[in-house]
Amino acid sequence: MSEPLDLLVLGGGITGLGIARLAALNHLRVVLIERGDLASGTSSVSSHMLHGGLRYLEHGRLHLVREALIERAALSRMAPALARPRRFVVPLYRGGRLAPWKLRLGLRLYDFLAGARGLAPYAMARPREALELEPALAAQGLQAAGVYSDLVMDDARLAIAVARDAEAHGARIHTYFEPVAAHPGDGGSFSVTARDTLDGTEHVFECRAIVNATGPWCDATRRFLSAALAPGSLPPAPLLRPSRGTHLIYPALTNGHGLLLTARADGRVFFVVPFGDYSLVGTTEIEIPSPPAADSFRPTLEEVRYLRAELARAMPGCAASRPLAVLAGLRPLLASDEAVGHASREHRVIEERGVFTIAGGKYTTFRAMARETLERMANRIGRRVALHDSDQPLPLPIVGPVTLEEIAAHAVEHEFARRIEDVLRRRTLLWLAPDRGRVPARMLSEFMGRRLGWSDQRMRDEVANWDASRYDEDALLARVPEEA
Ligand SMILES: Cc1cc2nc3c(=O)[nH]c(=O)nc-3n(C[C@H](O)[C@H](O)[C@H](O)COP(=O)(O)OP(=O)(O)OC[C@H]3O[C@@H](n4cnc5c(N)ncnc54)[C@H](O)[C@@H]3O)c2cc1C
Repeated sequence: MSEPLDLLVLGGGITGLGIARLAALNHLRVVLIERGDLASGTSSVSSHMLHGGLRYLEHGRLHLVREALIERAALSRMAPALARPRRFVVPLYRGGRLAPWKLRLGLRLYDFLAGARGLAPYAMARPREALELEPALAAQGLQAAGVYSDLVMDDARLAIAVARDAEAHGARIHTYFEPVAAHPGDGGSFSVTARDTLDGTEHVFECRAIVNATGPWCDATRRFLSAALAPGSLPPAPLLRPSRGTHLIYPALTNGHGLLLTARADGRVFFVVPFGDYSLVGTTEIEIPSPPAADSFRPTLEEVRYLRAELARAMPGCAASRPLAVLAGLRPLLASDEAVGHASREHRVIEERGVFTIAGGKYTTFRAMARETLERMANRIGRRVALHDSDQPLPLPIVGPVTLEEIAAHAVEHEFARRIEDVLRRRTLLWLAPDRGRVPARMLSEFMGRRLGWSDQRMRDEVANWDASRYDEDALLARVPEEA
């Protein structure tokens, strides 16, 4: 490219993709580089809710809840196939933390803040009615239940739809590109070199501004950029205090409702979220130092035990059910003095020598985060016109009865897939099949290999990598029955 880019976005989770999309919609010249697959970080291990966050009302965060409810409504219009309304049941037990009147007030406020954009309104249910809705709930001491609506999304596929929209508006997106060097360029611009970690080629990007949207890794990226752009300077103090959240995935445990439950062990809120034919049960909250070490992403047996024990208390009939899979990810929470469970889900944009870091936030508010980031950058990129966003539908994922070969072709041609894991884990739910994707892995290596020109060795490596990635998780889950 002869002219420098307006911005180079580092990180292809929902935050970076939202920024690249909004920049492209506003005719900025933007490239996004992601060092793994799109949504391979936190954006594929969320609780899958596009929500205002009912529990944040308790902490008085009305602004955050209102903003997220506005975004929930927009995303429901933009991706109806990937974000569907669900009813959530909140059972209340005698002696519990929350009185029924308080829950009723909270639900009323939640619907009020959603306003005309709201989903089906809340209701209160008597114990018998609650058990009719969800018979597997613990019946003893059940006092009442609240019922309200939120959206459940496919987090990875929604992120990919945002990426496709960004590309359709002119953004360029490169996955498996890792930044390896950065230098100050002419007239306050930057030059960033990225290595394609799959084919080893190097690519240089000249840009007016860099956006660091690397989620839980944003402090590591700040350190890298600070050392590269201002050698000898002190490493920046961390912005984040991440926390690990783990989910267990079961075959469907409910009649289709989500459940908002209170853990007896520590009073934390946890969820059973209906997702396709499955239920996500989570989460935990384990504080992690920033930048995170590689093993910070690994769930522990204690977390699995905690979730199983709480599920057994909330739904005694499910005590013997075995989880199919376990997921863990780091919340990129802003550092604060509050206990980690109460830490703010707000976001912050900071500028350091032309590098804009966006830290914190939640999936639901990614469009608001993109807006704020680009507004903060207006001076740097010399564009001051008001930003235009769109809530037109995002590109649809492949639907209908399709073969695995067609899925592979679509994933490679339209969805930035470059490895079999990308298709198994983030463009389909094949990783949750009884064989955990082992058979499709072998077929995909052929289908993708033909399109991407893989050698026989590369095809074997892809399959071996997939099998190995299952090994740790399978080993942890294999210990579950004896440890429960
Ligand atoms: C357990 C859990 C449950 C959650 N549930 C919800 C929920 O229900 N609803 C909700 O709204 N929010 C939820 N959140 C929060 C939400 O998931 C996150 O805020 C959001 O996904 C963060 O997206 P991100 O793009 O900032 O980070 P990520 O998705 O982690 O993306 C960062 C990307 O940067 C890449 N990267 C790292 N370093 C570099 C580099 N040097 N160069 C290039 N790329 C790099 C990584 O590979 C990664 O893909 C949850 C979070 C967790 C952990």
